[in-house]
Amino acid sequence: MNLDFSPETEAFRLRVREFFETEFPKDIIAKNRAGEALTTEEVRRSEMALGSKGWLASAWPAEYGGPGWSIEEQYVFDEELERAGVPTVTPMGVVYVGPVIYTFASEAQKQKWLPGIRDGSVGWAQGYSEPGAGSDLASLQFSAELKDGTYILNGHKIWTSAAQHADWIFLLARTSRGEKKQQGISFICCPLDAPGVTVRPIITIDGKHVLNEVLFEDVEVPEGHRIGEEGKGWTYSQYLLGFERTSYARIGGKRAMLRHIRDIARAAPDGGNHRLIDEPGFARKVTEAEMAVDGLEMTVFRILSALSAGGSPGDAASTVKILATTTHQQITELMLEMTAFHAQAFGKASALPSDIPPYAAPDVAAYFGGRAQSIYGGTNEIQRNIIAKKVLGI
Ligand SMILES: Cc1cc2nc3c(=O)[nH]c(=O)nc-3n(C[C@H](O)[C@H](O)[C@H](O)COP(=O)(O)OP(=O)(O)OC[C@H]3O[C@@H](n4cnc5c(N)ncnc54)[C@H](O)[C@@H]3O)c2cc1C
Repeated sequence: MNLDFSPETEAFRLRVREFFETEFPKDIIAKNRAGEALTTEEVRRSEMALGSKGWLASAWPAEYGGPGWSIEEQYVFDEELERAGVPTVTPMGVVYVGPVIYTFASEAQKQKWLPGIRDGSVGWAQGYSEPGAGSDLASLQFSAELKDGTYILNGHKIWTSAAQHADWIFLLARTSRGEKKQQGISFICCPLDAPGVTVRPIITIDGKHVLNEVLFEDVEVPEGHRIGEEGKGWTYSQYLLGFERTSYARIGGKRAMLRHIRDIARAAPDGGNHRLIDEPGFARKVTEAEMAVDGLEMTVFRILSALSAGGSPGDAASTVKILATTTHQQITELMLEMTAFHAQAFGKASALPSDIPPYAAPDVAAYFGGRAQSIYGGTNEIQRNIIAKKVLGI
């Protein structure tokens, strides 16, 4: 079995690498590498740098403005993006709602929303979770009442990532009550600057502002902002989750973290003569994490190779979600172990005492941030339930 990429794909890799090294905004890469949060202007500039090249919607079919790359090219592109230290693309527009729009929306809706997602000029947020509806998403209470061609939205969304940078939110709302709780849910898009919308920050344990709660009080949106049929939103929401769960793989980023760990461990993180990599216990754990990334990569290849361009990975994506997130946690635990010499260095790297190395604060934040990976996108317990029921048929 030959697992190497073809010479054409390797030539493509060099073109992508050169773009990141010479054309992509250097200040954004530097800030991202330092683990510092980007402003809304920087998020837009980062994504528009990819969008202007036609590379932001990297997995979209060519007929909707995607670059028409093969699965291998998409994979290599993601690997190079993460290797270069470019911020991860905010997935809510281009990875999540984009495919729902080009698959299920009307022609007018495609014209309205796809260009801004594709060129990175318009940010999106995902309004699924509510205070009483996370794992049991179908029990959501958010209501959309249709009156004379206008939906009146009322309710409370929570854990809404990046809403502070977004212009639009796609949300699941109850438009009626059916026999089953999955019935009567609709998929609606709403501008975040509409009167009656309030976005409130939630600061997480890694000290970052990624999450928000979003409150809706008699917010009016035209009926034409509903995607697909009324009451069929559950189907579209599950289609979207297939894309979301596979997107967690991020092999290139994991390999970059492991290279970083080996670099630090080869030096002496305690500042003395003691090289961490010479400790058999630590070296073994690094090797185990490297093997876990290899295993994850093979699983992703297997799932992606069974897909047609633009297709949804479906329930098999749950396997990727579990493997990717537990491997990420395995790696960030090593980062925490390395930084233990400096206690819990935290906050802005540049504001810490000078004897604390610059990697300590971002590494500790990465560890804490990584704990959430087995929660979002549907917890790993829920993914195991999906595999048991839908993949294994138990
Ligand atoms: C960092 C972060 C970002 C997020 N971003 C977004 C976002 O942008 N948009 C959005 O809509 N949501 C987002 N979420 C929300 C996320 O999808 C939910 O937190 C998740 O689905 C779990 O729901 P919950 O928090 O209500 O926990 P609960 O559903 O209350 O679960 C609590 C615990 O019980 C377990 N459990 C529940 N039911 C079962 C069962 N049937 N079998 C076995 N175990 C079970 C769970 O696994 C979990 O361990 C985000 C969450 C985090 C942490």
